[in-house]
Parts: sequence; structure tokens; C-alpha cells
Amino acid sequence: ARAQIGVTGLAVMGRNLARNFARHGYTVAVHNRSFGRTQSLIADHGDDGDFVPSESMADFVASLARPRKIVIMVKAGAATDAVIAELVPLLEEGDIVIDAGNAHFPDTRRREAELRAHGLHFVGTGVSGGEEGALNGPSIMPGGSVESYEWLGPIFEDISAKVDGVPCCTHVGADGAGHFVKMVHNGIEYADMQLIAEAYDLLKQGLGASAAEIGEIFAQWNTGDLESFLIEITAEVLAHTDPETGAAFVDVVLDRAEQKGTGRWTVQNALDLGVPITGIAEATFARALSGSVPQREAAVGTLVADASSWDVTDRDAFIEDVRLALYASKVVAYSQGFDQIAAASAEFGWDIDRGAMARIWRGGCIIRARFLNRITEAYERTPNLPLLLADEYFTAAVGNGVGAWRRIVSQAALNGVPTPAFSSSLAYYDGVRAERLPANLIQAQRDFFGAHTYQRTDRAGVFHTEWTTDRSQTQES
Ligand code: NDP
Repeated sequence: ARAQIGVTGLAVMGRNLARNFARHGYTVAVHNRSFGRTQSLIADHGDDGDFVPSESMADFVASLARPRKIVIMVKAGAATDAVIAELVPLLEEGDIVIDAGNAHFPDTRRREAELRAHGLHFVGTGVSGGEEGALNGPSIMPGGSVESYEWLGPIFEDISAKVDGVPCCTHVGADGAGHFVKMVHNGIEYADMQLIAEAYDLLKQGLGASAAEIGEIFAQWNTGDLESFLIEITAEVLAHTDPETGAAFVDVVLDRAEQKGTGRWTVQNALDLGVPITGIAEATFARALSGSVPQREAAVGTLVADASSWDVTDRDAFIEDVRLALYASKVVAYSQGFDQIAAASAEFGWDIDRGAMARIWRGGCIIRARFLNRITEAYERTPNLPLLLADEYFTAAVGNGVGAWRRIVSQAALNGVPTPAFSSSLAYYDGVRAERLPANLIQAQRDFFGAHTYQRTDRAGVFHTEWTTDRSQTQES
């Protein structure tokens, strides 16, 4: 038994992860349900390093040095449970099972508890960066026990992406914390993509600019505060010409966004925790709206627009306004996502270091961006920062763009251009900074129809008004 790490599940992600381990000098045990994939990995990439292929799970397990470290990289859900069920009887106390697929964190919590009862470590690990990242350095978000990270940390940090020499991998927290954080990462990715799409639409509708012209604007933006992988690929996509028609590629792509579910999980969890992640929610619903075909067919050409036709006079000023509004909305989306991480961390006892999460997202993953450094710095300044937006750097950076943000959202509304993520982010910003919200009226209504009680602004206590009789007030506690 000489392999230092094992990978079972050798489709695109597992194969590339196994190659990444091998290229870093580890002896890698490899296995896949159907042996053909294992054979083709060895045939195509055997010279990447030292692989130990096995056809049976028993031989695979036997080829690993103890404590065994086994990465499962199969289709999330029932397949993961099937592989775990096959593995567990073959393992020994102290062995470490790592699920690097996109599991939903409650499943990870369940599996961790089950394997712990067998004396095994179970490490749900978020891996971001797609197949390219898996091969050349992903962002890695391992949960599970501290003890398991003592074994895994050095290996995972070794194969992860590096930014300024710092690995994009750290221990996130116990049981499902790693998969939770990966889920929120994906939710933020949804918000980021929607915000970029809205900026594109604003430039298109406001300026009547072509895809190629907008691509140049994004390329320019990528040299400043907005520098990120998503802005960079947006510029490339917008510059691409469809080889079939010669038209701009984006102009021939059908406008229906699909999703695999992590955005939905993020929003569902935010509802459970009571955290307003409006940017991610609007982004998820915007995809749903784009796919609401019968509704859109019923509405197009039927619903009254009564909108102006957009007439931007100062092109450069408008572009700068859109840029500032995009940046401000993006800060809101991240601030909300980090609030959700804080709430879950408290709920599940994970003690997640939010600054460290921003640090390990700087490289390897889809939301990698220059701006994540600013988030890490904010949490270093104030580890228990209650609101990222209220950090001194972001207060100033967003404050600088608020006027632009208001101009863009109001002009979009007047001109009938939908900006769900831009406008809901501005509404959140104004809501969270309001001295007084109209929730006073909501509480009064609730007390009226359901005797749900209210508190007063002028003294402590819980009160109820006898709405249907003499409207006298009673103090309940
Ligand atoms: P797939 O999700 O397409 O899964 C295919 C793999 O799962 C194959 O190895 C297949 O084995 C195995 N498998 C399926 N059902 C079973 C089963 N019942 N028992 C044993 N093995 C089974 O592969 P990907 O490489 O795309 O993704 C792997 C994981 O990584 C997924 O959880 C995915 O969500 C996650 N992920 C994917 C990313 C991506 O960019 N694709 C990015 C980050 C995470 P066989 O060859 O025998 O059919």
C-alpha cells in the first residue's frame, strides 16, 4: 500500500484532480465504477506522474497508505451515497473520505455524522474552477474535522491555485461548512453574472452599442476595480463572432438561462436563516423569468410599456455611471453573501473566518477578482464586522458611486429596461441604512389581525392593542 491519495470517479473533474495530484509528485490511486475511464486516464495521461490504477474498489482501498485519503468525485446525490456505502466496509478507523462533488451541505452533515459513527473522517469539500481549475489549481474549501485537515491540508494547499504565493485553500469549519461555503460562492457567482448581464443590457439599450463595442468597454473595466475572471470572459464572449452567420455571437444565443441548482439552494437556505440575499435571489429569479416561455409569450407586445426611448447624450459619463452602479451592486451582493455565511456559521457552530473565505476565492474559482483582497482586509480590520458594506473601504467606494447608481436605476425604470439585481441592490442599500423603516406599520397590522403584539419606540415591553373593542393597550411583558 503505497498510494498517498486516492481518487474514485474519473469523469472530467476527477480525472483532472487526479492528474493535478500526480503532477505535484503524489502517488495517486485511481478508480472508477466503469474501468474504461481508469484505463483511458492511464493511457492518455499516465506520464503525468505515478498512478496506481485498480479495477475493484477493494484493490483501490488496499493500494492506499494509512490513514487512507480517498477523494470521491462522482455525480452528486445518490451516486455519492452508493460509493460511500461500497467504501465504508473496506475502510479502517481514522481513514479519511473526501467528497469533492457539489453536494448539498445538509447531505454532507448527514454523511459526516454517519461516518464519524464508524470512526471515519468525512470531509465535504467545495472545489471551484471547473475542469481547468481541477487540473491547474482550483479553489478548495474543505469542511470536516480539524484533525482530518492536518492530514489533508498540506496536500490540498499544494495542488490549489496560488495568489501571491498564498494557497487558495483553508479549513473552512466542521462537517458541512465547506460545501456550504461553496454553495454561497456559487450563489454569489449567479449575482455577479446577472449584474454583468444587466450592465451589458444597459449599455446596449442606452447607447445602442454593438456587442463588440460593449466588449471593449468590459475589457477597459477589467483594468480597474472590477478586474475579475467574469469581466474578462465577458469581454471575450462579446468580442466573439459567430462563424456560421458572421453576426456577434451573443446576438445568436437564445436568451434563456439555465441552472443546475446551487443558486436555488443558496436562496432556500437564506430564507431558512432569514438573511436578505436579494442580489442572489434576484439573479436566480431572473434566470427563471428568462425561462418562463409561456408567460413571456403572453406578455411580449401585450403589456403596456409607456416608457421613454433612451437618449443618452454624454456617452462617457453614462458608461462611467454604469460602471459605478455595477461596482456598488456587486459589493451589496457580496456583503449579503458574507452575511449568510456568518448566519450559518453561528447556526451550525462552524466559526468560519470570512476574511479567509475571500482570500481562498482570489484564485482558481469562477468569482476570482481583485476586489476580494479588499474583503479580506475588511475582515482583518474587524473580524466581527456586522456588515461588509459598513467597512470603511466599502463605505467610501460605494458612497462614491451612489449618485451614479441612482441615475442608472431611475433611468432604467423610466426607459423600461429591467434591472432586477441593480435596483434591488440599491433598495437593500437604502433599506439597511434607513433610520426608520415602514416595518412599524407591518407590526401594527400584525397586531390588528393576529394579536401578534408590538414593541414601542419610547419604552421597553411587549404590547397589544384591543383593536376590535375599545383600542386600549395592554402590556404583555
Ligand atoms: P459527473 O457529475 O458527470 O459524474 C460522472 C462520474 O460519476 C463518473 O465517474 C461516473 O462513473 C460516476 N458515477 C455516476 N453514478 C455512479 C454510481 N451510482 N456509482 C459510482 N459512480 C457513479 O462528473 P463531473 O466530473 O462533471 O463532476 C463530478 C462532481 O464534481 C459532481 O459532483 C459535480 O457536481 C462536481 N463539480 C463539477 C464541476 C464541473 O465544472 N463539471 C465543477 C465543480 C464541481 P461511470 O464512469 O462509471 O459512469
